[in-house]
Amino acid sequence: MTYDVAIIGAGTAGVYAGYELLQLRPHLKILILEMGADIYKRQCPIVAGKVRECISCKPCSIMSGFGGAGAFSDGKYNFTTQFGGWLGDYLGDEELMRLIDYVDSVNVRFGATTEIFSTDSPEARAIEKKALENDLHLLQARCKHLGTERNLKILTNIYEYMADKCEFRFKTPVRTIEALDEGYRLHLDGETVDCRFCVAAPGRCGAEWFADRCRELGLSMTNNQVDLGVRVELPAKVFEHITDVVYESKLVYHTKQYGDTVRTFCMNPYGHVVSENVDGLITVNGHSYADPALRSENTNFALLVSNRFTKPFNQPYQYGKHIASLSNMLGGGVLVQRFGDLVKGIRTNEHRMGHSFTKPTLAATPGDLSLVLPKRHMDNIIEMIYALDKIAPGTANYDTLLYGVEVKFYSARLELTEELESERPGLFAIGDGAGITRGLAQAGASGVQAARAIAKRF
Ligand SMILES: Cc1cc2nc3c(=O)[nH]c(=O)nc-3n(C[C@H](O)[C@H](O)[C@H](O)COP(=O)(O)OP(=O)(O)OC[C@H]3O[C@@H](n4cnc5c(N)ncnc54)[C@H](O)[C@@H]3O)c2cc1C
Repeated sequence: MTYDVAIIGAGTAGVYAGYELLQLRPHLKILILEMGADIYKRQCPIVAGKVRECISCKPCSIMSGFGGAGAFSDGKYNFTTQFGGWLGDYLGDEELMRLIDYVDSVNVRFGATTEIFSTDSPEARAIEKKALENDLHLLQARCKHLGTERNLKILTNIYEYMADKCEFRFKTPVRTIEALDEGYRLHLDGETVDCRFCVAAPGRCGAEWFADRCRELGLSMTNNQVDLGVRVELPAKVFEHITDVVYESKLVYHTKQYGDTVRTFCMNPYGHVVSENVDGLITVNGHSYADPALRSENTNFALLVSNRFTKPFNQPYQYGKHIASLSNMLGGGVLVQRFGDLVKGIRTNEHRMGHSFTKPTLAATPGDLSLVLPKRHMDNIIEMIYALDKIAPGTANYDTLLYGVEVKFYSARLELTEELESERPGLFAIGDGAGITRGLAQAGASGVQAARAIAKRF
């Protein structure tokens, strides 16, 4: 074999798999193939503030390149098994927590902060109680805020540590995976590479590609969910009494009207709303900087409604894309609407937006989200905003801004062993692309788990 191990994707999962293999078996020949750019050339004009709209880089620089989707992220590192993926189903929660702590220790080695926000303090318990009184459920988690700019620095440090110990090839998409009698042959543009073990870590942006490869290799997969909703932006003061204590509050609510689950997600105190390109669709997201000088006066967070479809429908990914494409059709990208206008049933236009006390951090097109999201989603989101208003008065203000559409796709979930090996021996699948994680902590943990299993075989 040309390589002992080939890793597809240099996102969080792939990087931690490579890092751990280097610790355990430094003599192995390891190749990491990444379709995006290296960490120095990863530049998104939107993140750099040079353009207001996505210019559709191929592949998208937010999602692809060394560090994967996490590179420009806010770097909220959650120490919990309650959300961020389903890795606990394979490893058990205790082992998963050990791995999450281990990945954090590696981050700290490369420059991460040691400051941790916790839900286990008298102040946090008071917030939890107040939430419970209003039928909102605060999920328990310790959380670290690495910060968008510090996150990039940590990744650069990791890259510089690994660069001369294994082989990286950037701008190198893997096209197909061929199973050999022993090992795998990866087809690149104009060449092939053979490896004894293959670790697939293609993330969300490579999820559809990977699902096709799994079908070709005859591997079993199950459907996953799609989460759809909006990003809420309001003055940071409205949530300060919560975000100062727990930083990111994951609040879950069951709506009275439909019994659906709505949750807050990815909370960015003093942050910025950003647009992102998911497979050619412009959707909304958010982040915040650790550096106080770069902070805004607003807090943003997503409100997401989860949809898990049953037979005969089996294309949650297409469903999410279809809804998101409506906002692109109407607004040429992300739409923004004032909460008061939405409830009144009128469109927010430039003129009304001009009167808003809350100043948007993203230049989105004022519009009408009720023409985009299904009524059921809209009703769920409105009900949740009124529920949040009880623990953070001001959430339901007229000028609270709603951006749409925020969509979270989850890859089809692959059949895997406890070691994260697929039904084909020697082929491992980790991270968001395998449908088993959806956050930095569990993605990193999945890489370490697969690396340890492979190390045992040498
Ligand atoms: C804007 C944004 C903000 C986020 N913020 C947070 C946060 O604060 N906290 C948190 O916990 N999570 C956050 N997340 C989620 C987190 O980034 C992901 O869960 C995590 O990066 C998943 O790691 P991964 O390695 O599985 O996939 P990814 O990080 O997506 O990496 C996959 C890599 O594989 C490459 N690839 C795909 N297909 C191929 C192929 N065929 N050939 C070669 N390379 C390929 C891609 O280019 C990509 O670089 C955020 C995500 C986004 C998009």
